Amino acid sequence: MAFTSLGLSEDILRAVAEQGYASPTPIQAQAIPAVLGGRDLLAAAQTGTGKTAAFTLPLLQRLIEGTRVNDRPGRAPRALVLVPTRELAAQVSESVRVYGRHTGIRAAVVFGGVGLQPQVAALRRGIDILIATPGRLLDLVGQRHVNLSGIDFLVLDEADRMLDMGFIHDLKRILGLLPKVRQNLLFSATFSEDIRKLAAGLLHQPLSIEVAPRNAPAELVSQSVYHVPKTGKQVLLAHLLSHGRWGQTLVFTRTKHGANRLAEQLDRNGFRVAVIHGNKSQSARTQALAAFKEDRVQILVATDIAARGLDIQQLPHVVNYELPHVPEDYVHRIGRTGRAGADGAAVSLVCADEAPQLRDIERLLGRRLPAHPVPEEILSTVKADPTPPRTPIKPMPRSESRPASRRGSSNLPRRVL
Ligand code: AMP
Repeated sequence: MAFTSLGLSEDILRAVAEQGYASPTPIQAQAIPAVLGGRDLLAAAQTGTGKTAAFTLPLLQRLIEGTRVNDRPGRAPRALVLVPTRELAAQVSESVRVYGRHTGIRAAVVFGGVGLQPQVAALRRGIDILIATPGRLLDLVGQRHVNLSGIDFLVLDEADRMLDMGFIHDLKRILGLLPKVRQNLLFSATFSEDIRKLAAGLLHQPLSIEVAPRNAPAELVSQSVYHVPKTGKQVLLAHLLSHGRWGQTLVFTRTKHGANRLAEQLDRNGFRVAVIHGNKSQSARTQALAAFKEDRVQILVATDIAARGLDIQQLPHVVNYELPHVPEDYVHRIGRTGRAGADGAAVSLVCADEAPQLRDIERLLGRRLPAHPVPEEILSTVKADPTPPRTPIKPMPRSESRPASRRGSSNLPRRVL
């Protein structure tokens, strides 16, 4: 299928061609005609599938066509794109700018952690599309800098993460401020009961699109694990980075502190590293991401929340230095590689403590992940993980014990391994 058959205007097609996209991705091929036809959408799609263009391109088209449902007060926005994180907000805004550059459609992005004034000024100039994180949007509405009564189109991007991050109340408040009649598009990588409930209350006879099996990671990503003692992870990572001649690598840790510590160690080993986590200021995060995208640093160490929505083209390696507690986060993490047709590899370093997390992830994926042997020269330099303490078997209190002759074999104390 060609982009030209989808019903998009010349101005939009030109921008798409400038991006070098040869044909629509599966989600784009399904979503674009449906959105142009005015339907609500429920899309199961992760980052890497081309979902941003799947909603942005038809949204731009509908705005150009000027079909209006609600009265627009002054120069208030007509489309609202809600996203969970600042990084995703910045990224969606960049996509809207790129795809809409020949259309004259104006957009602004608002998110917390940076000054209010430039955002207020952008809103005052008048915009068509507003991309926002929920908290900052409510601040701006509260201070009457933005009026949502002219919204004809609502997009919820990464709705699952929005709920995971506790935005449900903000979301409900925002929904209460929107006109009743509008077109709604909901994108989510995973579908929990809460997401289904949200979708049921929000969407009107939606078209459901699922481009990858539910909760399944991008097919092009090869996944594997190394079972390695906790104390050997850093040496193994350094070994893989240098011996494997890995290029750009995104490394996930579970905590901000862990991210800082690992980055310092890798820096001492001579790698070019940047860190991105929730305690970093917005400008530090933007700089780290820019340095990584421009290949000035080879390794970006990140926590889950900070990395949400990062769009890094041609990222060959993702490393789970520590496994996430929530198995769906694993799918999100590895969705950073193998994007839009490129091959990728996701490698997890798993110590003895993390066996339960690995089991949960494999259950979600529906398969075991192949394990590589850890090179002997690394194993010989590190201490094995301590074996879990033996659980002492408590003797039964006398009053509860039964005569040995009546005990079934299941009551015999089992040897604790
Ligand atoms: P997304 O899933 O929206 O985060 O997009 C993932 C990546 O795919 C981005 O880097 C886009 O630039 C790229 N992309 C989107 N649509 C296409 C397409 N039709 N062909 C090739 N790459 C695309």
